[in-house]
Parts: sequence; structure tokens; C-alpha cells
Amino acid sequence: MTKPNPNVKDWLADDAPSFDDFASGKVGADPRPQLIGMSRDELADALSKIEAGPKSIKMRVQQVWHWLYHQGATEFANMTNLSKALRAALEENFIVGRPEIVTEEISEDGTIKWLLRFGDGQEAETVYIPETDRGTLCVSSQVGCTLNCTFCHTGTQKLVRNLTPGEIVGQMMIARDRLAEWPTPVSGRKLTNIVLMGMGEPLYNFDHVKAAMKIMADEEGISLSRRRITLSTSGIVPMMDRCGDEIGVNLAISLHAVRDDIRDRLVPINKKYNLDELLAACRRYPGLSNARRITFEYVMLKGVNDSNADAKKLVQLLKGIPAKINLIPFNPWPGAPYECSDWDRIEEFGAYVNRAGYASPIRTPRGRDIMAACGQLKSESLKKRKSEVLAEMRSKELQNPVSE
Ligand code: SAH
Ligand code: SF4
Repeated sequence: MTKPNPNVKDWLADDAPSFDDFASGKVGADPRPQLIGMSRDELADALSKIEAGPKSIKMRVQQVWHWLYHQGATEFANMTNLSKALRAALEENFIVGRPEIVTEEISEDGTIKWLLRFGDGQEAETVYIPETDRGTLCVSSQVGCTLNCTFCHTGTQKLVRNLTPGEIVGQMMIARDRLAEWPTPVSGRKLTNIVLMGMGEPLYNFDHVKAAMKIMADEEGISLSRRRITLSTSGIVPMMDRCGDEIGVNLAISLHAVRDDIRDRLVPINKKYNLDELLAACRRYPGLSNARRITFEYVMLKGVNDSNADAKKLVQLLKGIPAKINLIPFNPWPGAPYECSDWDRIEEFGAYVNRAGYASPIRTPRGRDIMAACGQLKSESLKKRKSEVLAEMRSKELQNPVSE
């Protein structure tokens, strides 16, 4: 049984980029191309365009890649095994961008939520969930979501746009910066797993998610095994096949209902790809075995999908699929049209599924106090921004000058 880790505050680095770094354009909007998020080929292409001494491009890509993704360097000046001329050329032509941290909130259970702002001012949230035996980063793939699952807060936010590979990888970079986890540790990592369960539908941003996962899995950089990456989808059937073939990560399905009429209501994309088609795509997902199962997510909604008949049907539907079932107590958000099932009901539902031979852990809600739990993310926020806090601090300083 994994437990929350409330000591996370002790881990946080105290040298995050300051507001001035963002204001000066060092981070954020900058006309120079951003290296984070480029594939090795794109990086080779970019580096070949600058005047950079006698070393071969392959060698240079190797070196820069190592600095970016193994050492976590944020300044070209610190890339000490590159010639001064190369460092200067890099500085002139590129940036090692990071998203701006607008807010950082820490839950009483140790969960950390970052609201990040990208170069064009768009924002998305990323959540770090520490447990005793692992630390999971819940990553967003889009700003908002085009799908309108009726129980999901993100679904009420209009999609603004897909995130780029650099912005997806950037979420990991920020977490590693803040957890002081550079260079990439060989063992004892605080960040061990990635789940694409933040804002957005990752299979509607397939190419960028694929590129980002390739960078994260690269063994000479962040080096996170694909077995430790889980992509969650509401069920975009045609892209599930490509996900298995081309990205090769673990799959999680937002199932939430066992009858088409109910799923049509909860997860409207079901009208396009119904349960039969969805489960057929699961059955053919490559590489499944008892050691590598599909996770079926099932949000427990009072009186909607939580009866014993539903549990029975669930077991029938999943027959033959190596599966585990994650029962998620519904996380409320302002104006939500549902209630969470009673605890006894969730336990009885879980026990039924469990007796049928499926692992069916009830997911402990994490970070509810900071609206960081599943389905609570929404970036349009009235929280105070770092710039406002700084402005306030400055005006207070002016009003109450420190006496000498
Ligand atoms: N769009 C993808 C991934 C993001 S959602 C997907 O739908 O799978 C991550 C998980 O949180 C999904 O299983 C989603 O259905 C679930 N979720 C959404 N809103 C929720 C809520 N209010 N309470 C509990 N889980 C929720
Ligand atoms: Fe989008 Fe997933 Fe939320 Fe549905 S549950 S609205 S697909 S983020």
C-alpha cells in the first residue's frame, strides 16, 4: 500500500527562476527557437545552422542533449565541455526555455500543483503526486479539452490549443528543477512515473505527445522507461492502435460506464466510438500480458454507474483483457452535476470486481484541497499570479520601508 509523502517541502529547490527572469524574456516569450522539445534530428538540423567549430554534428548533438536532458542545464554558459565559441553561438541563436511557474501549491498530503504559463501566455496545470515507493507526475497534453465529459472540470474549459512537444517535456523539466533532481539520478528518484492524465485528450494531440514521450524515454537524457509512462484516453479508437504501435506506453481507458446509453451521457465521444469498438481496440493493444495490463478508470457517481448490476456487467465486458480497474471517487468541482458514491457502495462495488479476479484499488483522492485531484484541473484561474504577488510585495515595501 502506498502512502502520501507530506515531507515534499524539504525536497524543493530554492533556486527556481525568479520573476525577473521571466520579465526579462529569459524564460517565456523569446524569438529564438527553443531547444527543449526538439527531436535529435531537429536538434542536429538546428545546430548545423550555426557556426560551431570543428566537431561533428553527431558529437555536438550528443553533448547538447546530455546537457539539456541529463544535466538539466538551463544556461548555455554552464555547458562547460563546449568551446566558448560554440556556447556563444548557441546563446545567440537558441534558448533552453522552461515554462513560467505562475503558481506552486502544496497540498497537506504532499501533492504539488504547478500552474505553468507558456510563451504565448496560455496556461496548463501539472501535478506531482509523491508516494512512499514512487512519485508520479500527472502531465497535461492540451490547454483545455475539446471533449465534454460531463463529470470533468477540464471538459468545461474550451480547448485553446494543443501543447507542443517542448511544452509537454517542459512540465517534466519544471518538476525535476523543483525537486532538485538533476543530473538524472541512477536510483532513488523522486519522480519515477508519468501519467498523461492532466488536462486534455492526449490522443487528439498524437504527434506532439509521441515526440515528447520519445524525448522522456531517451536513455541518454531523462531516461524514463516507457513501462513507467501511462497514457489515459477517453477512447479515441483509431488512435489507440497507433498509440500501441508507435508510442508503446501503458494504456489507461476512461471507461466510467458499462452501457452505451450511460456512457453516451458521461463520455460523449462514446457516440462516435461505442463500447464494443472501444473494447475491441483494447483487446488488440500490443504487448498485453498479466504483467502489462490495461487500466480501466471508473469514476464512482452516486446513482449513475455504481450499482451491483454495473459491477457485474463490468466484469463481463472485460473478460479476456489483462486489466486492472481503478475506482475513482468522484472529485467535486463548483457546479458539478454529480455526487460521489457513498463509501460503502464504492467498497461493495470494488469487492465484487475483486472477487471476479480483477485488482480494483480505490484511488485515494490526492491534493483535493488544492483542486489538484483527477478531473479538477482547469487553468482559467482567479488565483493571484506571481506578478501580482510581487507587485503587492513591492507596494507594501514602499508603504512600510524597512527602518534603518
Ligand atoms: N482526457 C484523458 C486524460 C485526462 S483525464 C481521459 O479522459 O482519459 C484523467 C482521468 O480523470 C480520467 O479517467 C477522467 O475521466 C478522470 N476524471 C475526470 N474528471 C473527474 C472527476 N471530477 N473526478 C474523478 N475523476 C475524474
Ligand atoms: Fe477531456 Fe478527459 Fe476531461 Fe473527458 S475526462 S473532458 S476527455 S480531459
